[in-house]
Amino acid sequence: MLRKTALVCGAGGFIGSHLVRRLRHEGFWVRGVDLKLPEYEETEADEFVVDDLRKQETCERVVDGRFDEVYQLAADMGGAGYIFTGEHDADIIHNSSTINLNIAHGCRRRGIDRIFYSSSACIYPAHNQDDPHNPNCAESSAYPAAPDSEYGWEKLISERLFLAYNRNYAMRNRIARYHNIFGPSGTWQGGKEKAPAAICRKVAMALNGGDIEIWGDGQQTRSFLYVDECLEGTTRLMRSDFEGPVNIGSDEMVNIDQLVDLVCAIAGKRLHKRYIAGPLGVRGRNSDNRLIEQKLGWRPSQSLTAGLEKTYAWIESQLLRKAA
Ligand code: NAD
Repeated sequence: MLRKTALVCGAGGFIGSHLVRRLRHEGFWVRGVDLKLPEYEETEADEFVVDDLRKQETCERVVDGRFDEVYQLAADMGGAGYIFTGEHDADIIHNSSTINLNIAHGCRRRGIDRIFYSSSACIYPAHNQDDPHNPNCAESSAYPAAPDSEYGWEKLISERLFLAYNRNYAMRNRIARYHNIFGPSGTWQGGKEKAPAAICRKVAMALNGGDIEIWGDGQQTRSFLYVDECLEGTTRLMRSDFEGPVNIGSDEMVNIDQLVDLVCAIAGKRLHKRYIAGPLGVRGRNSDNRLIEQKLGWRPSQSLTAGLEKTYAWIESQLLRKAA
């Protein structure tokens, strides 16, 4: 029997590097491609191409093979400090759409008919997420569209791109809307990190009894999904008959104060919260998991605390390594 093969675009990134490892453990031969190798560990890809997917010739070269599964995760990406300041809007739209256009076109020309595309909860209308206790992120609420960032708009148009290829070129692309994925080996410093990693870092660096800075008033709500569960949902969707778009996220909603309290409890520290101005995004967001349960008979179930324990331990080890 032929060995299964996969192409992972964005294989040097957080979710991509975890996905490569998972596919290898499932027995796949994996080609990874990214601007960079994974930052915190050796790649497990059988072949890793360091190149720029904004170049059409790169895309045509990397898709040139027999691939059972293609995962398109490469994007110009970051946490609130990158996406919501407005300073990177042109790059975000230009870079990510160019990659998606090139991959969709390259795969079609090569006869590859199934691409997984990672969209985002950021596509949902901002006005449905004003109430922190009752945000609406049902898949059907995406239109009329009103995302609160250019990152969200780009994701939405790229969803439409992959769906149009399904309709016009008989492809079977799959689309997930990820909601705040976190875990070890994610960006944890430098400005592109997201809330769980930033808070783990701040707590790990603080002295017991000291202060912790929080962007906003701590009452904005979110849910966070551990990376292993994200990959479970991703591969299930990829191998299903359902094209999506579908949420892949946790529905264990917490506010940022509660997230800080959970991390402090894991660290065994008591810290005084200091609220400062910062880029915030929408007021409330939670994954609505009814559709994924209905279509795939599965929903994420691991607790937030279980994922935070592993993430905190990893970030603490990174800090110790840096200090050594
Ligand atoms: P990440 O930034 O760690 O990974 C993205 C990777 O894409 C990076 O390694 C980057 O170098 C690569 N890349 C960017 N431009 C490239 C180019 N021109 N050519 C080749 N590679 C390029 O992000 P992640 O958290 O692993 O996210 C993966 C995907 O999931 C992204 O599409 C992201 O938008 C989406 N997503 C992630 C989350 C989350 O919470 N992490 C939430 C919603 C959606």
